[in-house]
Amino acid sequence: MSDSLSAQQLLRIRSKLETIVTEQAGTRRADHCEAALQRMRSGEYGYCVECGEEISAARLAAKPEVALCVDCQALKDEEEDA
Ligand SMILES: [Zn+2]
Repeated sequence: MSDSLSAQQLLRIRSKLETIVTEQAGTRRADHCEAALQRMRSGEYGYCVECGEEISAARLAAKPEVALCVDCQALKDEEEDA
């Protein structure tokens, strides 16, 4: 669990998400950020929506709206390429 987000990181990520939702309203990215904020409110943020695995803090810091762990993302990318 050393890789989990601290409360401070969560706050920083939340404000980042809120900024994107405001500044990029109407875009697909804003939708993803809004969904991430909802997961944050329900306490599900930081876990893969497919398999429930914890998403690494580094991945969330780089792309705060991600909903999938690297494994599920790779599978999804393969599907989309096909
Ligand atoms: Zn997953």
